[in-house]
Amino acid sequence: MPRADLVVYNIGELVTFREGPLRGREARDPQRAGILRNAGVAVRSGRVIDYGPSSEIRARYEAAYTYNARGLLVTPGLVDPHTHLVFAGSREDELELKLLGYSYEEILAKGGGIHRTVRATREASIEELERLARERLLEMARNGTTVVEVKTGYGLLPEYEYKMLEALRGLNAPGLPGIVPTLLAHVIPQEYKDDREGYVELFADEIVPGAKRVEPKPVYIDVFCDKGAFTVEETRRILQAGLRHGYRLRLHAEELAYIGCSDLAGEMPIDSMDHLEYLPPGNAKLLASRGTVATLLPSSMLSVFSEKKPPAQALREAGAVVALATDYNPNNMNPSMQSVIDLAVYLLGMTPLEGLAAATVNAARSLRLDGSHGLIARGAAADLVVWEVPSYRWVGYKWGVDRVREVFVGGVPVKGGVD
Ligand SMILES: [Zn+2]
Repeated sequence: MPRADLVVYNIGELVTFREGPLRGREARDPQRAGILRNAGVAVRSGRVIDYGPSSEIRARYEAAYTYNARGLLVTPGLVDPHTHLVFAGSREDELELKLLGYSYEEILAKGGGIHRTVRATREASIEELERLARERLLEMARNGTTVVEVKTGYGLLPEYEYKMLEALRGLNAPGLPGIVPTLLAHVIPQEYKDDREGYVELFADEIVPGAKRVEPKPVYIDVFCDKGAFTVEETRRILQAGLRHGYRLRLHAEELAYIGCSDLAGEMPIDSMDHLEYLPPGNAKLLASRGTVATLLPSSMLSVFSEKKPPAQALREAGAVVALATDYNPNNMNPSMQSVIDLAVYLLGMTPLEGLAAATVNAARSLRLDGSHGLIARGAAADLVVWEVPSYRWVGYKWGVDRVREVFVGGVPVKGGVD
């Protein structure tokens, strides 16, 4: 009898998303979701080796451990493709100031905002940054997240940007979500406030190539392209340096205003454009035709008290691949992809199934991990979420609480439950 490390059985509804990524309306179609009832999943060496009817999977494998899913919903692990989770300090007082009517500029003038996080992050040791990142990753895992993209961007100068990457080195461990590191050009540091051009040159010509010698080496180059951040021309320069040095590209685009950042999808291969509140509906077609994933961040919209929503309907009609992410950062301390799905249902008009696809197989596509993560298929990572609800229709329907009973990251249970 073939051996398995783990068999999860008695799954009421198994949503595999094995045909993903799902474009436009496909993400709403239960026929495309690869749904099985009364299912089982067998795992060996961190990967799914088989799935099918529960009784057959149980009978076919000699399992070291089993897990009774008690008729509940099981989906692929959630993938969070946009976070800023390495930082020191906190800014809870700024939430209060925002609500008392202070503008972002006034908060900056009081010594708050991003430069406060930059100061605290530069002062923190690698060990302290690693400890904070580990706690946040564990919290994310307990909430169902099994892969996390992590950006730099609070160091700004070379040594501190590299320190943020090095803080991730010890976090490749069983039971912790997988990490995709990104080098982010976030803001112009105070040291260069009168020399933007000098900083863009430093980032493109020194920080980008130098990061290749850091362990872990970033997979992605990202730029905060927006009004008040980097211009389209500055962004182009940094992304081109990224391409030359063999990185993949992703972009913060059109969050605060439309300045043409999303047009860059027509010029170079950009795996994901994120935020997109001010995306002109016409550019939805450009993203779809170029295979650029639209990654939407509804909890981030709330954190800046913006009522402007990304054009979810235009993206759907254009046939774009739409993903969701938390944008976890000191201004938006939301570690939960569950809550992001809920917000996508109520703020962006996504169906629960569409939200789940956007948080799994499409989010994996945003990181070019589709095929290995965000889906349940033979050979894919054994990343599974056992939900406290019986069907995908209950995700977003029952909301506001943790609905995750168990999470397996590479077959390892995060909440401790095997039979
Ligand atoms: Zn961001």
